[in-house]
Amino acid sequence: MTFEKLGLSAALRVVLANQKYKKPTPIQLEGIPAILEGKDVLGIAQTGSGKTASFVLPILMQLKSAAKIKNRNLPVLVLVPTRELAVQVKDVFKLFGAALPETPNIQAVFGGVSINPQMKSLFGVQILVATPGRLLELVESNALNLANVQTLVLDEADKMLNLGFEEEMKQILSLLPAKRQNLLFSATLDEKVEAITQLVLNNPKVIKIEAERENLDN
Ligand code: AMP
Repeated sequence: MTFEKLGLSAALRVVLANQKYKKPTPIQLEGIPAILEGKDVLGIAQTGSGKTASFVLPILMQLKSAAKIKNRNLPVLVLVPTRELAVQVKDVFKLFGAALPETPNIQAVFGGVSINPQMKSLFGVQILVATPGRLLELVESNALNLANVQTLVLDEADKMLNLGFEEEMKQILSLLPAKRQNLLFSATLDEKVEAITQLVLNNPKVIKIEAERENLDN
């Protein structure tokens, strides 16, 4: 199976070739067509599975025809647990987004740094990668409107819950429109993650990628 057969554009495939991604990983193979069809997805996959590209590539494909935004009505929201992951995911969006005919406006926001430059950066943003607490502060400051979000990604949902972001996640969900596409990724599927998937996902395609196990026999 090739990236071309998955329905990715020539522009994105140039970057894939430059990155020496020869063929899709299992989560990309199953996730990309489902996301392009507009389905909700539950991806049980670890870091290292290629999960980031599995949502970045189809989201950029869907954005291709979108007109530039001249307001603070965000269309694509990616929630992540940490500043490090926010920067990493933003960088993957930027790497592939730069190949599109019109480079999308992609930003990352997280706590622990001054909020003022982030407030300014959000005018016209199309894809925002955010940690939950700072996102809510920005919404409360009217720097951002979540009522028009079309695509929501919860990346490393288990880690977000473990870090105590449950209330913030629920508050953010209450600000989103009912009709949207939802993609949830988690390394594990315990009771708490299960509860969030029930709350967020609508008849999702479930993709479970078994982690390579260490030999525990010795
Ligand atoms: P992730 O699981 O998203 O953190 O990605 C793990 C690593 O795999 C990253 O360094 C990616 O650049 C790389 N990667 C993602 N997809 C592919 C692919 N199809 N072929 C080769 N490497 C990939």
